[in-house]
Amino acid sequence: AAVEEASPEIIFRSKLPDIAITNTLPLHRYCFERLPEVADRPCLIDGAEGTVRTYAEVDRLTRRLAAALRREPLGLRRGAVVMNLMLNSAEFVLSFFAASRVGAAVTTANPMSTPHEIANQIAASGATVVFTESMAVDKLPASAKDGGALTVVLIDARRDGCLHFWDDVMASVPDEEVAAGDEDSASGDGEFDPDDVVALPYSSGTTGLPKGVMLTHRSLSTSVAQQVDGDNPNIGFHSGDVILCSLPMFHIYSLNTIMMCGLRVGAAIVVMRRFALTAMMKLVERHRITIAPLVPPIVVDVAKSGEAAAHDLSSVRMVLSGAAPMGKDIEDAFMAKLPGAVLGQGYGMTEAGPVLSMCLAFAKEPFRVKSGACGTVVRNAELKIIDPNTGKSLGRNQPGEICIRGQQIMKGYLNNPEATKNTIDADGWLHTGDVGFVDDDDEIFIVDRLKEIIKYRGFQVAPAELEALLITHPSIADAAVVGKQVEPEIGEIPVAFVAKAQGSELSDDDVKQFVAKEVIYYKKVREVIFIDKIPKAPSGKILRKELRKQLQEQQQA
Ligand code: ATP
Ligand code: MG
Repeated sequence: AAVEEASPEIIFRSKLPDIAITNTLPLHRYCFERLPEVADRPCLIDGAEGTVRTYAEVDRLTRRLAAALRREPLGLRRGAVVMNLMLNSAEFVLSFFAASRVGAAVTTANPMSTPHEIANQIAASGATVVFTESMAVDKLPASAKDGGALTVVLIDARRDGCLHFWDDVMASVPDEEVAAGDEDSASGDGEFDPDDVVALPYSSGTTGLPKGVMLTHRSLSTSVAQQVDGDNPNIGFHSGDVILCSLPMFHIYSLNTIMMCGLRVGAAIVVMRRFALTAMMKLVERHRITIAPLVPPIVVDVAKSGEAAAHDLSSVRMVLSGAAPMGKDIEDAFMAKLPGAVLGQGYGMTEAGPVLSMCLAFAKEPFRVKSGACGTVVRNAELKIIDPNTGKSLGRNQPGEICIRGQQIMKGYLNNPEATKNTIDADGWLHTGDVGFVDDDDEIFIVDRLKEIIKYRGFQVAPAELEALLITHPSIADAAVVGKQVEPEIGEIPVAFVAKAQGSELSDDDVKQFVAKEVIYYKKVREVIFIDKIPKAPSGKILRKELRKQLQEQQQA
């Protein structure tokens, strides 16, 4: 019988050499490894109040909280799950690292979620303790998964039935206990495995129900190392940097690339409770912020608003964007406002730990990069592009499904071996569901999600490409494109949802013609629907499922 010769796989690597990575430490120890050098430097700066906590203070507070977590009434042990249901705050950081110290995992959730969503996540994750704030506390269910009491710790108010973060929990620990060593293990009782889960974020739920993603001490410390460790780190953060944290810590982008990477290098982190454009610019000015991690909608805001000119933003040397697609034109418009900074993209996915690729213009010894690219695969990892139909790996400049392999990726989906098997194959490759290609300079360009690609008469149309084009129109504030099922000979047509700029009298024909001038015929927008605001997740992603629902309702009407 003919033996089919296995064709060799085409694997892409970073242009930076691999480094030695320490990924067997408990995550808190890894992130605070430089504590002796940076003890007296600012660690967390409260954006609203301006209060500063040094590295030594933050370290001590997490020790105190860990001791409290071990004691009754909380009584947490290795393997427990804690939920962080809050906007950005110092308390978020403290509970995250205190949980790491006791060997527990933190599942993070948006406090704007509905009671139903919160109850689901508590039940699914098995959380028994919730750290939250007044705005969300009333949405909590009465009990935890197995009917046991859910312990609620409130950071900003006193309330019957809840513990107060500072007065009840932190104050309960005698000083001698704080100092008690837990240096040799995460759990304090000698047991620790780098493959223990430490973070249990939920994917954004953009394409379906959010899934619990098990990230371990090993995966997260590997991911942080891939970004900021080594002689020529991919992101050249250093201890003199002041990093803006305006993105929600409950999303893995902020938790990993801002919080963990920032702590690892000993930088100061300016914590904004939530994003607001003017307040952000004022903070940049006040604290001479050097690093601004953003998401595309914020980049668009800055590029389209006149406000940047009114503030001194000259301290910013690096602007990172990620979590959602951003076109070249918006990058260029943004750069015109901040000529002194380097703007680049990272590409992440919760399941991937989350960073797959990062702009090499951020490296300590930077590379020249192209706008519109999402960076190059991180070090100590392998990336391949496969034909989604045959699974065969593709060469340069050929779009296909992006796959990644390395120690940074998730352990799996929580309690869902089936979904895990469908995402991580037997050879350890994580299949992202994103379509992209690697160009001649090792730069990755994302086309769109496999599931979002519109098929018009058999031709593929990427919504992200049309969206990037649409938002360059001066009368368009924001736009989203989805496919609409029509007669079978055609399949789907691209429909544009457009939010007009204030005062604009744009017509649907104007929109269609604007696009038609710039794209090949099959990519033309065939229908335009004006709406007030494009629905988006906090990470900046367009919630296309909501738009599809609108389309369906419209078709039924
Ligand atoms: P769910 O999987 O629950 O539907 P989600 O995929 O939106 O939600 P995340 O893990 O937050 O949840 O997002 C990962 C996705 O975000 C990637 O798979 C990719 O589609 C998109 N993404 C991230 N960074 C970029 C980028 N720089 N450019 C384009 N898309 C990006
Ligand atoms: Mg996803």
